[in-house]
Amino acid sequence: MTSATENKNSGATAAEARAVAEAARETEWTRPSFAKGLYLGNFDLGLIHPWPQARDADVERGEAFMAKLREFCTTMSGRVIEREARIPDEYLASLAELGVFGMKIPREYGGLGLSLVYYGRALALLGSVHPSLGALISAHQSIGVPEPVKVFGTPEQKQEYLPRCARGAITAFLLTEPDVGSDPARMGCTATPSDDGESYLLDGVKLWTTNGVIAELVVVMAVVPAHANPDGTQEKGGITAFVVEMDSPGITVENRNAFMGLRGIENGVTRFHQVRVPAANRLGREGQGLKIALTTLNTGRLSIPGLCVAAGKWSLKIAREWSNARTQWGRPVGKHEAVAKKIAFIAATTFALEAVFELSAEMADAGQKDVRIEAALAKLWSTELSCLVADELVQIRGGRGFETAESLEARGERAVAAEQLLRDLRINRIFEGSSEIMRLLIAREAVDAHLAAAGELASVDATLQEKARAAVGASGFYAKWLPKLVAGAGLDPRSYSEFGRLAKQLRYVERASRKLARQTFYGMGRWQGKLEYKQAFLGRIVDIGAELFAMAACCSRAEMLLRTAPEQGAAAYELAEAYCEQARLRVDDYFEKLWRNTDDADRELSANVLAGDYAWLEAGVLDQSEGTGPWIADASPGASSKESVHRKYR
Ligand SMILES: Cc1cc2nc3c(=O)[nH]c(=O)nc-3n(C[C@H](O)[C@H](O)[C@H](O)COP(=O)(O)OP(=O)(O)OC[C@H]3O[C@@H](n4cnc5c(N)ncnc54)[C@H](O)[C@@H]3O)c2cc1C
Repeated sequence: MTSATENKNSGATAAEARAVAEAARETEWTRPSFAKGLYLGNFDLGLIHPWPQARDADVERGEAFMAKLREFCTTMSGRVIEREARIPDEYLASLAELGVFGMKIPREYGGLGLSLVYYGRALALLGSVHPSLGALISAHQSIGVPEPVKVFGTPEQKQEYLPRCARGAITAFLLTEPDVGSDPARMGCTATPSDDGESYLLDGVKLWTTNGVIAELVVVMAVVPAHANPDGTQEKGGITAFVVEMDSPGITVENRNAFMGLRGIENGVTRFHQVRVPAANRLGREGQGLKIALTTLNTGRLSIPGLCVAAGKWSLKIAREWSNARTQWGRPVGKHEAVAKKIAFIAATTFALEAVFELSAEMADAGQKDVRIEAALAKLWSTELSCLVADELVQIRGGRGFETAESLEARGERAVAAEQLLRDLRINRIFEGSSEIMRLLIAREAVDAHLAAAGELASVDATLQEKARAAVGASGFYAKWLPKLVAGAGLDPRSYSEFGRLAKQLRYVERASRKLARQTFYGMGRWQGKLEYKQAFLGRIVDIGAELFAMAACCSRAEMLLRTAPEQGAAAYELAEAYCEQARLRVDDYFEKLWRNTDDADRELSANVLAGDYAWLEAGVLDQSEGTGPWIADASPGASSKESVHRKYR
């Protein structure tokens, strides 16, 4: 088993990796957080109900832009992008003209200043033309240059970059390296300060740089070594963020990467060899890079849930139309119960996908609540659920679900790209924080109150004495806290009566929230500091909270729709109730599996697999991996012998 001090071969120990992640964590909670409360048994419905009200000016501006964007989107063809594996330059030029590259940039810098809600809706619309468009705009605006500059840039940096970005300078965010994926502690890219302190020399290789092939500007994360300032003072250095001009000498884009989906993205391998970057291009302080990246992602993470809403809506439409049109065994396939259940799942989940995205984005826009956990939950849950939706759609379409749109059309049928949806959605569970990493990140916040209370009790490295001392303090905390988890509004049949038939769903959420906190406490008690290694247990804790959040979002949204759009209100109640009933079965199952599971046995079995004990089971098939290259290409810095594939789109 990996211990806290193993894994030295790769340059950083597990403890160092944790320390880097921990140092970058935002620890302050100055505003209330609905989702954090859910994990602590404190279901505070008032934080999400009534549904947050958008500002009139935001709605007016957003609707006017959406109308223009919708019109333009009908002139683009997702089929062309898929066929050519590239977004035509004229699409990009027109999108720039429409202001799409500056949707989230404040108007004072030439952007459209859209709210997060409208930004997400615009992404959904663009993504429904082709998901590569959504990926391009999201990589540029949610994590590329505009967002970190807006939040961390100096006034000069804002003046310099934001208007350029708004006009259409495409940007990218470069964190990942061949040897550095989820764990940035081992970052190999370096930024060495010059003696006069005027510039840095950038060296290293960045992998999977979305937009990197056509970007004009990029944000690069690199390690600044500890050094002395020109005035003799010492700097610790650390991971630091820089804005880099892509036409700087020494940059090569070595490859345009191709993937299972998102065929139109301009994703590359970007090599930096002695690239001179002015110190004025540094974002924030030295050592602040990871914090900048993580803070950027706090709300940046809402882009992908926005794109998942589009996937749900399209799946629902195709499922409805096809299940009515296709008749087998004497009835439309939608009338066979096995298919009907899939349609019900797609419909209920689509309602929930929209509720979760819109609620999180509205709360982020309103600014009074802390939505860090909501955004992370939205990213994790939306990407997982939308993949299930797409998979069910493929199944409902039968053989046609597996056939490409091109082929369907060639033989005279409607060109429905269900298989493409499945391929395009898959990456959402991997990038901008893989599902496994999102669960760890959310679990870290979810048990934060426990850790804060228990102190050294929860630290693996604490001495026995420290743990014993902490346990005494912690028992005082738990003595006060645990009784609060025994009873609550969920036990009173009159609670939440203003929600009508959804009241019982909210009572369930309240009861389940307290149960969730109790179970987390039992996990703490049982494993103490080792809890962080119980990823399966923590994963279920996180997933329960995600479902409870989605259920609450559905109820709040249905109530809002009943008030504001009565013609949809009754149907919204049906969909919200359906989602809650389906989610409850999953939640009950997660609770059950917290303590009845095969986790220990699976860990052991997996260790045996890794040790090669069952290699005999692999016999009888060909090893189809082509070539004889290493698992991971040598990423040592240095000049590239390859021709750069970097190109200008305009
Ligand atoms: C199409 C595409 C676009 C991308 N765009 C960008 C971009 O624009 N900028 C950028 O910087 N990066 C980008 N990436 C990189 C992406 O963010 C990474 O792939 C992702 O962070 C995961 O890193 P990895 O692939 O190295 O997986 P690894 O970190 O090697 O992980 C492998 C597996 O192990 C799991 N795992 C790792 N650590 C743990 C742990 N501690 N506990 C539990 N499970 C763990 C992971 O979840 C995963 O399942 C892109 C990738 C792709 C494929």
